[in-house]
Amino acid sequence: MNKNNLDPQIMEKALKIMDLTSYNICPRCLGRNFSMDIDAPDNLERGEYIQNNLYDESCADCRIHMCYICGNIFQNINNQLIEYISQEIKDSNIEFDTLLIGSRVDKDIIEKEQEIQKKIGVNVENIKKEINREIGKALSVRMDKDVDFETPHLVILVDFTREGNKPGFNEEYKPRLEFQINPLFIEGRYRKLVRGIPQTKWPCRECKGKGCERCNYTGKMYQESVEELVSPEFLKQSQGSETKFHGAGREDIDVRMLGTGRPFVLEIKEPHRRALNLKNLEDEVNQSADGKVEVSGLEFVGKERRKHIKTSSTDSYKVYNALVKVEKEITTEDMELIKSLKLIDQRTPQRVVHRRADIIRKRKVRNIEVKKLDGGCLELVIECQGGLYIKELISGDDNRTLPSVSSLLETKAQCVQLDVLNVHVA
Ligand SMILES: [Zn+2]
Ligand SMILES: [Zn+2]
Repeated sequence: MNKNNLDPQIMEKALKIMDLTSYNICPRCLGRNFSMDIDAPDNLERGEYIQNNLYDESCADCRIHMCYICGNIFQNINNQLIEYISQEIKDSNIEFDTLLIGSRVDKDIIEKEQEIQKKIGVNVENIKKEINREIGKALSVRMDKDVDFETPHLVILVDFTREGNKPGFNEEYKPRLEFQINPLFIEGRYRKLVRGIPQTKWPCRECKGKGCERCNYTGKMYQESVEELVSPEFLKQSQGSETKFHGAGREDIDVRMLGTGRPFVLEIKEPHRRALNLKNLEDEVNQSADGKVEVSGLEFVGKERRKHIKTSSTDSYKVYNALVKVEKEITTEDMELIKSLKLIDQRTPQRVVHRRADIIRKRKVRNIEVKKLDGGCLELVIECQGGLYIKELISGDDNRTLPSVSSLLETKAQCVQLDVLNVHVA
């Protein structure tokens, strides 16, 4: 490139920067200010292009000693550093496919950079973005992994601050590294084949989990839960730090979950293993859960599924099997009346109103099949919109649910046994 062919505006800006930094600025910190003005593959080339145009290579005074902005951070971003980071990652034994770099620099670096950007009137990316990009590019090649800005498996934080600087041997630059392993999400369905266990771990009401006489020093209301029967194997195989169980709604403790089961997403925090054999995981879980709980259809999903399965309750529909005790002799007419249940106004049941807003919901019943059993009992198969409380649909809950099996038959009706047969999530 020829000398003195700089655009006059670029020349003016460049000279101003040189003046502000007493010519102590590295090509990257210089070039960064021209990312909108000069078309080049990176800021290093932009900076070198300007410097070549501004002064002679023979100009001894013009040689940079210490970059006023970054204090020569970019000199330390070299093959040695990439090798060091790569080795530390390998030593950490973390399994990942995608990565993202974050960095920390001293506050005065950011301040000096902002001060210069303000004085010359530019608005460009800050130094951290450039550091992250340069390390990311090099590390991605070195480790043969992709950079992912949205949902990286592993975030590597490189600490360039004074405190983050480990004194290395042979003056090798070894900044402190911090690894953030993002969670792994696995979706599946569970069947709960026994009554009496809640879906998730339930801390003791008395001691809030600390352990007391009431809970026999377990800290729990119930000794087992679907979560506790399912999660340990996931945790073991992924070598994670903890798990969170997200169900698509939940059945009552005394209700079984049969049929194809209920969708759930298991979130595993800080997994060191991601390439899990899900079929094997399924087998191991089902063996250890000893016929109480079964999982199926495990698959890896994105984090958006966690929210999706939790919020889809009104779009979803459910099928229940209810055993109902009625205090009168049931006629064929009664059975037809029950089948006529369609639109239900349901005020929050008394048994849950202490933890849910007291509102009236409108829910649809799509279909009811009725079968008469011995001893004043009925078997109902109810297909309905998600969010309808079935026990109250039967009892009427002191007229808070209308119409109900009880209100239609003008007698007491009670759900004595309930199973969920299908949970359909939209
Ligand atoms: Zn610099
Ligand atoms: Zn307790």
